[in-house]
Amino acid sequence: MDAPAHKKSKLIKGATGDWEAVIGMEVHAQVTARAKLFSGAATAFGGAPNSHVSLVDAAMPGMLPVINEECVRQAVRTGLGLNARINSKSVFDRKNYFYPDLPQGYQISQYKSPIVGEGEVAVDMPDGETVRVGIERLHLEQDAGKFLHDQHATMSLVDLNRAGVALMEIVTKPDLRSAEEAKAFLAKLRTILRYLGTCDGDMEKGHLRADVNVSVRRPGGPFGTRCEIKNLNSIRFIGQAIEHEAWRQIGIIEDGGTVEQETRLFDPEKGDTRSMRAKEEAHDYRYFPDPDLLPLELAPSLVADLKAQLPELPDEKKARFIRDYALTGYDAGVLVAERETADYFEAVAKGRDAKAAANWVINELFGRLNKDGHGIEASPVSAVQLGTILDLIGDGTISGKIAKDVFEIVWSEGGDPRAIVDERGLKQVTDVAALEKLIEDVVAKNPDKVADAKANPKAIGWFVGQVMKASGGKANPQAVNDLLKKRIGV
Ligand code: ADP
Ligand code: MG
Repeated sequence: MDAPAHKKSKLIKGATGDWEAVIGMEVHAQVTARAKLFSGAATAFGGAPNSHVSLVDAAMPGMLPVINEECVRQAVRTGLGLNARINSKSVFDRKNYFYPDLPQGYQISQYKSPIVGEGEVAVDMPDGETVRVGIERLHLEQDAGKFLHDQHATMSLVDLNRAGVALMEIVTKPDLRSAEEAKAFLAKLRTILRYLGTCDGDMEKGHLRADVNVSVRRPGGPFGTRCEIKNLNSIRFIGQAIEHEAWRQIGIIEDGGTVEQETRLFDPEKGDTRSMRAKEEAHDYRYFPDPDLLPLELAPSLVADLKAQLPELPDEKKARFIRDYALTGYDAGVLVAERETADYFEAVAKGRDAKAAANWVINELFGRLNKDGHGIEASPVSAVQLGTILDLIGDGTISGKIAKDVFEIVWSEGGDPRAIVDERGLKQVTDVAALEKLIEDVVAKNPDKVADAKANPKAIGWFVGQVMKASGGKANPQAVNDLLKKRIGV
């Protein structure tokens, strides 16, 4: 039997047959916290270079790291949000390497004993398939500083503001099978982190970035050798890098070569990847437990409390929207992608036709926001205003068509939709005498079409359109339809 169409479409057609990409990701998410992982320096973005640097971050001799409890809580919250095992005991290790943006000469990370173990994220694809992506682990580590190459004619400078900021490294199992799945996974992970409030997900600022491991294989065959593409900071780049890398590897194998395991860099300008270092040159980081830090032990009550305080997460919210508002999975998925959007929708839908509310939010509001490149927080139309527009449609005061005009007016000028409808005379005409007059005009001018409509009652639609037009869109279409049928006699 043939596989369903969507399963087939994941495969890549090479010169010698079908190939399947296998992808696993290592995602770095900056922890939302006011202070760094082991110092009290601020994490605020955009300060003057080296203005948020404590003696610990600058690795002055004798300085000792002190764990920031809030970062630990954030990691635990995230682990819970990823349906993952929380490890009551974890260990901080030193990952040793020399680089000028790393004054300590080592990064404090977690190696053998991470704070969070295995978990799972459900990713809903547009075709309705749910891809379950295993989480291997989540560990806490320090970020490094940043090079500034454009500040001085002959020297590169180092800004340590980011040095020591807490990162969560989230590692997936090699469960992704296409660029589309990888992109959808990262979008879902970002949504979960934003719901939890543990990472703002701002990829432009580098607060969420991913290393992507790609290999190719014959469908169902053993895994191939992987290459790792470093530091991708947009979902679009992730898709491009995977597609390019899969094709590159297929090309090598089909030409009779073998893929070498290596680390590669993505070039957004060219859309391709190039080698950075081979596995042979891979660093020996000489990990060992940091003697300045005790193993991290979590009180069971801490985990239980954090669990009890978790917000409703996207999967639960989506299931509730489908159940309570009778939405399609697709509509519910779109609405829960951002917590603010879901809240906006619920404020509009409460006590109203939820399907209509979803249509308005997804089609009109999102359509308009996307056009202007804004998020929901910048919407000039509030949930109360949109709700009022829906009420005006619901009680027959305005037609759906006029409602769109009212929406436009509220969008650009603000104001109470009810007052706008009153002041500008936008009320729907249901007055029978007024409608009959419009109908008489159209009927008198088009005797041939009347004959058509008598023969084929479907042709009545043309008359409805003419009368609506004559009324400036204000006639009640149902009333027009009823009156026309009576007048023409169908
Ligand atoms: P290492 O410790 O050498 O970095 P890991 O086993 O931790 O290797 O894997 C790192 C990442 O690579 C994980 O996200 C994992 O899912 C992914 N990965 C492992 N094997 C493959 C493979 N054959 N193809 C694609 N991705 C893979
Ligand atoms: Mg790794």
